[in-house]
Amino acid sequence: MAILDIDYHAGNGTQDIFYERADVLTISIHADPDYEYPHYIGFANETGTGPGLGHHKNFPLPKGTDDTRYLSTLDEALEMIRGFAPDYLVLSAGMDIFDADPLGQFHVTRAGIRHIGIKIASLELPTAVIMEGGYANAELGENVVTLLENFK
Ligand SMILES: [Zn+2]
Repeated sequence: MAILDIDYHAGNGTQDIFYERADVLTISIHADPDYEYPHYIGFANETGTGPGLGHHKNFPLPKGTDDTRYLSTLDEALEMIRGFAPDYLVLSAGMDIFDADPLGQFHVTRAGIRHIGIKIASLELPTAVIMEGGYANAELGENVVTLLENFK
């Protein structure tokens, strides 16, 4: 199994649970904890421990991360997942990466969210999508539909 966390905030709980396991690849793309909650975890040098070493990856990103930056980072994450060749994927889908999110400081547009969905779906893995954050309430439903519409 692989878990990909695209919520704006670092996936601290997921990281903690699977940090010592080699059978689960966990990847989180998120706001750098240098400026964003949770400030104590989610740094690039945290890569697992013991048998889990190399099976966790954090991609901390700067304020103002736009579609281009986000999607190129996602490409790196998806390469890791392809290399790990899991039987299935769990996607922690936080929509607080959205440009207009009141808590987030990324500038990922709806077109960016569409491409995120297309890229993740292109893994062609059985995928469980778990809804996480997202606080731009008026746009949340549309964003989630946009993310999901390219999964079969
Ligand atoms: Zn969040």
